[in-house]
Amino acid sequence: MKLIITESQKKILANYADNERPNESCAVLFGAANDEQTTVKEIFLTQNIEESPVNFTISNDELLKVYKTAEDKKMQVIGIFHSHPNSEAYPSETDKRFMQSNPVIWVIYSGVTKDFKAYFLESEIIQVAIEVN
Ligand SMILES: [Zn+2]
Repeated sequence: MKLIITESQKKILANYADNERPNESCAVLFGAANDEQTTVKEIFLTQNIEESPVNFTISNDELLKVYKTAEDKKMQVIGIFHSHPNSEAYPSETDKRFMQSNPVIWVIYSGVTKDFKAYFLESEIIQVAIEVN
């Protein structure tokens, strides 16, 4: 399993994360998936209504808009992005809990290492390779 993302998509997410500091930022990733790879086609930047440096929540209203937009564009919701302004790009205990109810690829950006990492929850959390093109 791997995630394919472009350099400019990474830049959009990193810039958004940096702008939202000191709080976590979040976004939903649209695209296409098959057994081997998942490709990011579009990014829907969302608001972290918690305005917290250690947690994020997307409002139900915005989530409805997210799913409606994906449907209109005939794309799937393939991933959830959020940033960790002050820690490394590993899922927190809260993230792990929410990964169970949101079985898509989770992309985390670290404001410390400026690194992107991707994860997917199977029976346990596996790291998903990120291919940039
Ligand atoms: Zn997190």
